[in-house]
Amino acid sequence: MNSPEFDVIIAGCGPTGAMLAAELRLHDVRVLVLEKEAEPVSFVRIVGLHIRSLELMAMRGLLERVLQHGRRRPAGGFFAAIPKPAPKGLDSAHAYLLGIPQPVIARLLEEHAIGLGAQVRRGCAVAGIEQDDEGVTVEPAGGERLRSRYLVGCDGARSTVRKLLGVGFPGEPARTDTLMGEMEVGVPAEEIAATLAGIREPHHRFWLRPFGEGVYSVVVPAAEVGDHSIPPTIEDFRQRLRAVAGTDFGVHSPRWSSRFGDATRLAERYRSGRVLLAGDAAHIHPPIGGQGLNLGVQDAFNLGWKLAAQIRGWAPETLLDTYHSERHPVAADVLDNTRAQLELMSPEPGPRAVRGLLTELMDFDEVNRRLIEKITAIGVRYDFGEGPDLVGRRLRDIEVEQGRLYDLLRRGRGLLLDRTGRLTPGGWSDRVDHLADPTAAVDVPCLLLRPDGHVAWIGDDQRDLDDHLTRWFGEPVT
Ligand SMILES: Cc1cc2nc3c(=O)[nH]c(=O)nc-3n(C[C@H](O)[C@H](O)[C@H](O)COP(=O)(O)OP(=O)(O)OC[C@H]3O[C@@H](n4cnc5c(N)ncnc54)[C@H](O)[C@@H]3O)c2cc1C
Repeated sequence: MNSPEFDVIIAGCGPTGAMLAAELRLHDVRVLVLEKEAEPVSFVRIVGLHIRSLELMAMRGLLERVLQHGRRRPAGGFFAAIPKPAPKGLDSAHAYLLGIPQPVIARLLEEHAIGLGAQVRRGCAVAGIEQDDEGVTVEPAGGERLRSRYLVGCDGARSTVRKLLGVGFPGEPARTDTLMGEMEVGVPAEEIAATLAGIREPHHRFWLRPFGEGVYSVVVPAAEVGDHSIPPTIEDFRQRLRAVAGTDFGVHSPRWSSRFGDATRLAERYRSGRVLLAGDAAHIHPPIGGQGLNLGVQDAFNLGWKLAAQIRGWAPETLLDTYHSERHPVAADVLDNTRAQLELMSPEPGPRAVRGLLTELMDFDEVNRRLIEKITAIGVRYDFGEGPDLVGRRLRDIEVEQGRLYDLLRRGRGLLLDRTGRLTPGGWSDRVDHLADPTAAVDVPCLLLRPDGHVAWIGDDQRDLDDHLTRWFGEPVT
């Protein structure tokens, strides 16, 4: 067998695939992204980028660009849409939410990946895969067979890669469906506002919001769970609007329409040999709290440097498997919080009472903070074993002598932040940068950051540090 033309093939150029491609390119990995759709997605689903994702953008120099295309909003009020402002002093330099159209963030990430040298082939769906000891053979539908050392399925909720691998996707099927789309209306804005104001029953899955030039964003519960690959018709919208609001507002001329469900599922394994799964391909849940895209982009951030290390040949033996052991529990926790939120948004009397109680409890800052840290992913702590509480957590963007810490992480390398002036990354200097800064705003003598910004070690002893450098960054260069 010839040596593979690519190091990594990624199936799917959504936000997860594009982020992963960019992360791999930081380490000169030869990446090909195969994307089923010939053109980027056109539906304007507004998503929220939460704090941790904004921090990732800052760590890769993308934050300014992303901020130009979105609207900043306060960080609080997202857990089950309970309108409580965030408590003061959230542990982040980027403590807000950014509302941004999904096609825009997807485009920015794709441009970022291409700018770093990733190849993206559109109109090319992965249809078959075969793996052996040396690599993976990928068969695009109607195209020539391609060969790579690894394949990552970032191909969304109905992932072909996951199905071809035969990886189980246990969880709950959709109980409800929601129709969403953009369309014109046939009645004046005042009439719409008056009708909406007159609806007494709370409907968390129903709204009409002006989108400019007579176009409205319409969301309405579907009559039943349907086939998500078939977009709803304008007549479907009219019927459901009449059922919920008593009028169809004269909707016509849809720009786009789609339906989504509330299925909740988690892949049993994120790795099967040389094939991995990330993003919606690995986990799906209802969009409450706006976490899916964030979770996928964060998967990519966790996986990128590990897979690159494997390709470059310096990865410790178990490093790639830590992708599953770290990210699978994080997704399980997100799935659980969306299950809880779904219950809290039910109009039934029991859940409404629980919601009332939780709303009261959120007056305690610690309760409110815990829920916000969950939704925004700044509370994630990977299990690195014994150690101070900060070990396993991400470090916030602190001030350092040269400016901001995150600006020093743009190349996707490890970082030794040393306030003692005595320690050194030594034989790992080709993978780990050294910042000797006695004034750095952290309350520890020295810490080691992984390329994803998580704290791998805290201490002041060179031998102990060397052990941890070996654990995360492999053998030193002598
Ligand atoms: C109404 C709604 C609101 C949402 N709001 C939010 C929010 O506020 N915040 C948030 O974080 N998330 C939100 N989400 C979830 C978010 O949209 C998804 O989690 C996100 O799109 C997942 O990104 P992905 O790259 O993993 O998958 P996708 O975006 O689905 O991308 C997968 C890509 O793979 C391609 N593909 C599929 N099959 C193949 C194949 N065989 N070969 C090659 N390519 C293939 C697809 O064309 C697609 O481009 C929302 C979802 C919905 C439905």
